[in-house]
Amino acid sequence: MRIAALGFLHETNTFQTIKTTYQDFVNFEFVRGAEIAKRHATANSTLTGYFKGAAKYEFELGPLLFTFTGPTGTITKDAFDRITGEMLDMLKKQGPWDGVLLAQHGAAVSEEFPDMDGEVARLVKNLVGPKVPVVMTLDLHSNITQKQLANTTAVVVYRTNPHLDPVERAIEASELLVRTIRGEIKPVQHLEQVPMIINIVKQPTAFGAMKEIMDDVAEVVKKPGVLSASCGQGFPYADVEHMGISFLVVTNNDHKLAEQHAKWLARRAWERRAQLQNDSPSLGDALKRAKAAPAGGQPTVIMDVGDNVGGGGSADSTHILAEAKRQGIAGPHSLLMSLFDPEAVQACIRAGVGAEVKLKVGGKTDTMHGQPIEVAGHVRVISDGKFEEPTPIHGGWRFFEYGPTVALDTTDGHTLVLHTNRGVGNMSRQQHYSIGVFPERYHVVICKGTVSPRAAYEPIAREIIMANTPGVTAADMGSFKYHHRRKLYPFDLDVKYEG
Ligand SMILES: [Zn+2]
Repeated sequence: MRIAALGFLHETNTFQTIKTTYQDFVNFEFVRGAEIAKRHATANSTLTGYFKGAAKYEFELGPLLFTFTGPTGTITKDAFDRITGEMLDMLKKQGPWDGVLLAQHGAAVSEEFPDMDGEVARLVKNLVGPKVPVVMTLDLHSNITQKQLANTTAVVVYRTNPHLDPVERAIEASELLVRTIRGEIKPVQHLEQVPMIINIVKQPTAFGAMKEIMDDVAEVVKKPGVLSASCGQGFPYADVEHMGISFLVVTNNDHKLAEQHAKWLARRAWERRAQLQNDSPSLGDALKRAKAAPAGGQPTVIMDVGDNVGGGGSADSTHILAEAKRQGIAGPHSLLMSLFDPEAVQACIRAGVGAEVKLKVGGKTDTMHGQPIEVAGHVRVISDGKFEEPTPIHGGWRFFEYGPTVALDTTDGHTLVLHTNRGVGNMSRQQHYSIGVFPERYHVVICKGTVSPRAAYEPIAREIIMANTPGVTAADMGSFKYHHRRKLYPFDLDVKYEG
């Protein structure tokens, strides 16, 4: 049994003005054939799960192409054409195949295709033909569509946020595919879209109403005749018609049963809609609370929700730094944060390790993410930005190559980790350990994310506060102007779900 594996993964923030180009994928991760095993066989990613699935269910895996980049703006037509062109070419030349595994995100938008993942599935399905099953894995932030379902045998979605289960879900996808090929099952799927969004600050699956939703999904998974059940949390920063939460149930050749369970999940989520909206504290309050925490002990971790790198943030927002200075958060090890600023990194490299520098950092991308801030300090360390994360973290990535990075200790007692790759979030503590910076020693640690840094920072945090900061991923959804979305709660309070 020969099964092809392909992936073109992107979470597109359509409010981000910077388009995502072919080169952005090349710069981040673009691997083919044997290179895929090198990067993923020992990681904790979806591809890792495909390799494990191949070993468990004894099929020959043909890893063809996998690419992804950080969540930036709409993908250019050029990038879409070149990447899908190469994917299809490999699929055709290295076939025939008994099945295909697709590692997609579910919230990718290209210039031509608002549902890019649906289009990728359609192109793949068209090429392999109706007899060859295609199973697709998606990120929990997916905006799932009928087109995605129509062009796949089954869709399996991560069930944790932070995403710690890509391997399990990929093994599940492998099992569904293999059993379909063997003729043991005939998967049918039903999608139920609910006219509401889950605010980003309510998306962690470990607590609150979101946990209850995932508990419901787990209950449906156990029902007789059900092969798989998923929730797509939706990615609210994509201004597309299909944006929003949805439920997907896969059964063994019983569409009515799939529909029944999906509607039950949808109704229960709809009843919880008011509990799933933004109630995060203001930046000023978040920093006051962090400042008031007793000295010593564990750091207070503040999520910079408006500059959520995992959601399309510019990675250089200075709103928190400006407020910290205003509130007088100072003294040795008072604050640690990362900032994207290639210009400042170059200035520090020119000055050299140990040099005293005075420069303006951050706030250089646009007007949404604050002003550049003048700081003085000394260059503690310069690194190539390479590090490795052996433990499962959000998304399951292992090898990171983030480019030139500098740790700058400022006269305020802040440590700023300045870097040159906009896709750098704070998903792994190795990012800091690898340059000799220990977040545990700081009073306040800022993470440019909302949920993705939790797996790395929960173990060392006194408390995690999701601060309602401005920016391209703000929790305050009223700050975004949509042109394409449906009527959705809480934007439209008169909207009804009648499933
Ligand atoms: Zn996600």
